[in-house]
Amino acid sequence: MVKKTRQKELILRTLQSNPFHPTAVSIYDEVRKEMPHISLATVYRNLRLFTDMGEISELEISGGLSRFEVRTDNHGHFWCNTCESVFDIEMIDKELNGRVAREKGFEVSNYRLVLRGLCPDCQPARQADTISSLGKEPED
Ligand SMILES: [Zn+2]
Ligand SMILES: [Zn+2]
Repeated sequence: MVKKTRQKELILRTLQSNPFHPTAVSIYDEVRKEMPHISLATVYRNLRLFTDMGEISELEISGGLSRFEVRTDNHGHFWCNTCESVFDIEMIDKELNGRVAREKGFEVSNYRLVLRGLCPDCQPARQADTISSLGKEPED
């Protein structure tokens, strides 16, 4: 029982510390560093449990694996084509909902919005900057 509680806490803590909407597998990789004997099935089971309890939410994106996050409010996402990180998007949601309400008269209760593209770190200009600064400022 104690062991189960520790697993749950660790899984939740790992998710809380990752803002990029990790997949179950990347949560598993992270959790294993502290709890080497945990199984992927256990991680999946606990994520499912937390989702059912409404403590976390699962983000299903077409063409990708399910992502998990501690936020449970409705918000939009940006999915980077290159690094596959998923970022939260706030302002577009409000604008879009407002426009739908004004122009169409619909009242939006929830929505699913996933934008695709390149995050700032993956845009070619930024990459060129990073490459040209290599050797000057070592990054880790
Ligand atoms: Zn990226
Ligand atoms: Zn999110």
